[in-house]
Amino acid sequence: MSTVKSFINGEYVGSDELADVVNPATGEVVNQYCVATEAQVAKAVSSARDALKGEWGKLGTQERVEILYKIADGINARFEEFLEAECLDTGKPYSLARHIDIPRGAANFKIFADTIKNAGDEAFHMATPDGTGALNYTVRKPKGVIGVIGPWNLPLLLMTWKVGPALACGNTVVVKPSEETQLTTSLLGEVMNDAGLPPGVFNVILGTGAKVGNALITNPGLDAITFTGSTPTGQRIAEAAAVGVRDSSLELGGKNPGIVFADCDMDKAVEGTIRSVFANCGQVCLGTERVYVERAIFDEFVQRLKEGAEALKLGDPKDPETNMGPLISEAHRNKVLGYYKKAVDEGATVVTGGGIPDLPSELKGGSWVEPTIWTGLPEDAAVVTEEIFGPCCHIAPFDSEDEVIKLANDTSYGLASAVWTENVSRAHRVAAQMECGICWVNSWFLRDLRTPFGGAKQSGTGREGGLHSLEFYTELSNICIKL
Ligand code: NAD
Repeated sequence: MSTVKSFINGEYVGSDELADVVNPATGEVVNQYCVATEAQVAKAVSSARDALKGEWGKLGTQERVEILYKIADGINARFEEFLEAECLDTGKPYSLARHIDIPRGAANFKIFADTIKNAGDEAFHMATPDGTGALNYTVRKPKGVIGVIGPWNLPLLLMTWKVGPALACGNTVVVKPSEETQLTTSLLGEVMNDAGLPPGVFNVILGTGAKVGNALITNPGLDAITFTGSTPTGQRIAEAAAVGVRDSSLELGGKNPGIVFADCDMDKAVEGTIRSVFANCGQVCLGTERVYVERAIFDEFVQRLKEGAEALKLGDPKDPETNMGPLISEAHRNKVLGYYKKAVDEGATVVTGGGIPDLPSELKGGSWVEPTIWTGLPEDAAVVTEEIFGPCCHIAPFDSEDEVIKLANDTSYGLASAVWTENVSRAHRVAAQMECGICWVNSWFLRDLRTPFGGAKQSGTGREGGLHSLEFYTELSNICIKL
């Protein structure tokens, strides 16, 4: 058992208040962490401010790029350590984190190093009354001290998705990871020091959202806040950011539809839908929780999805065969099981699952639930309208393209959607009408990190990815030179 600490001004700092860290696969307390004090939160922000004015603020783009490359290399050099830490905190299968979380955590630094290196500046020649003209050009400046608040489902990946571009643009950061998953973010402090990042550029404060998160977002020393998490917390963050007219970027929840047309490639649609519903135990903001299937293939598709769900292997996260882990915590399991019960109360047909799986004794204390599929609910049922964030979906039949577009868009969220069809015209037509930030056709979670990522409606504001991230993390200044 170790004690996880905050990382402020290049050093690990503890506190007298300790909280337990539970492994969700077993329910055992595996570590403790030191809750950051108010004074430590303030110190992290002031250190970040001082670092902007120090050595870091004087570096050129190429020098920052080299440090970012070293950070990526540093994560890769300690790959197994990061992997162990992430899986201990989340309970997710090692096979998943090995292929997604840790490689992407490292890649986020390289990608944004390359993005800033290749980003050009705007220039405009303008006419002036005296005929000599003027030249306008735009320079990118860091926005300043950025508050970064992340969720627990993909802790390293989603945190570095923000820290990478923030540092590439020359900002300094104060990061508050989710209280459920702090190991990899804390560990990153050592990597930052080894990479030669000056003290104070990257700071980590540990604790709950209500206490430490709130102390961070209400600190007037932040210049902007970037957040990934639930919609209610996002609203609170936007309110806090509004004080002082600060910018905020919000990546929030979803209730994403998957649309399966009768002309789909059935094997691909089944395989892709299984991944989109059950990957990471359904704890993916982009995951599908509502599946609409054209009536002609409805029964066959439901049967195939049931077989796929029942073939998932739940168990020891270290077992390479395991492809579904537990939920993040007992509290989240209670929430998800609450929806499992509500679905039945509202009249659902339980196609598969609906309860707690029978697992070996060493895993019995973990936050496990069965992969679950329902049919037969009206569109206004709670499990069809509210984000559950668990390994479950409701499947409903549809009869026409217009009908399913309306059903898919009838939600307050707008993060992602998936469309399965072999008809190219239909694919373009339907995708263009999806009210969300990303629509996949015949795939799911296929990501080119240069593309804009973010949500419509209550799924968020702003876009991240490639040049879009640079927009948030830089302050553009125009220089106008009279010739
Ligand atoms: P959450 O909103 O409960 O917590 C997210 C973070 O906010 C945590 O670090 C938490 O400590 C902090 N926080 C909570 N209250 C706060 C407050 N008052 N002030 C400051 N910080 C506060 O979300 P979660 O349960 O960790 O994550 C799950 C949610 O995240 C789901 O809704 C999911 O859809 C969403 N999510 C969205 C994306 C995306 O890119 N759109 C990605 C992953 C997760």
